Amino acid sequence: MTREELLKQQLTDEQRKILSDCSALYNRLPSDLKTKLEGLMHVFLHEVTFDREGFTEVTEEMRICVAAEACVLILNRGYDSYSQLRRVTISKDALKRDGEEWAGWAGRRDVSLQWDAVLHGMKQGNDNYNVILHEFAHVLDQADDAQAQSIPVHEGSVDRAKWEELLKREYPRIKAAYKVGRAHTIREYALSDEAEFFTCATESFFERPKELKKYNPEIYDILQDYYGLDPLPWSRAEEKRIEQKAQEWGKRKFIRLIWMGVSVTLMAVAMFLRVFEIVSDDFFIYFYPVWFLLIIWSQTKKS
Ligand SMILES: [Zn+2]
Repeated sequence: MTREELLKQQLTDEQRKILSDCSALYNRLPSDLKTKLEGLMHVFLHEVTFDREGFTEVTEEMRICVAAEACVLILNRGYDSYSQLRRVTISKDALKRDGEEWAGWAGRRDVSLQWDAVLHGMKQGNDNYNVILHEFAHVLDQADDAQAQSIPVHEGSVDRAKWEELLKREYPRIKAAYKVGRAHTIREYALSDEAEFFTCATESFFERPKELKKYNPEIYDILQDYYGLDPLPWSRAEEKRIEQKAQEWGKRKFIRLIWMGVSVTLMAVAMFLRVFEIVSDDFFIYFYPVWFLLIIWSQTKKS
């Protein structure tokens, strides 16, 4: 199949279900971008070899999840950004290098990911931590010049100066913030190496767009320009959905309380009538079933 044909392919319902179960970011995407993502994922799955370390097989879930979130980064950049990428290795245990443990690492051609960390990063969509976004941002950073230095455009690019200025200005600001114990939208790990500025900023861009736009609009704008995406409205739409759900839940709870009050009042009235012998015991043969049915109906009916 040619790349053009692959780009037109769609996921199966089962594959979409894997993503909606595992990826908070996928669930936030507007539907037109989801369609675009499916095509890019087919190219990715066609061109990239998956390997495993400690697992007996690479599962469908692993392939679909990695392809999806990796391709979010290139939704509007196109697949060429990953044209040098060859292999993704999924590891069961933490990756070990220089006596330290890592959740992932990446070059231009190879990416290694620890599966548990990947899943955690995907499910928590706003904790500023996402191994896939992080490692594939390293791929993009190195794609232009094989250098991991947080300037993801090649030397002749018209945007080169903009990126150099951004790094020169913003990197010391992050350093200064953490030095005096202040928070910064971009997590502190960015300070471990200059190469981690672009990757951690990418995580914030997709996971905490509201904060990044508010407190570091220059970083947000350059990433918006680079990725050709604006994740802020995606989060707003998600917040609205959560708010609506909470409101509906509150409304349902209120209505149930009212019905509970009605039931208790009815029982009290019935008891009152019996105590003053206005009704006989026979009355309760009819009253109890009706009362129980009323309770069951009021507790099961929707709002
Ligand atoms: Zn990194």
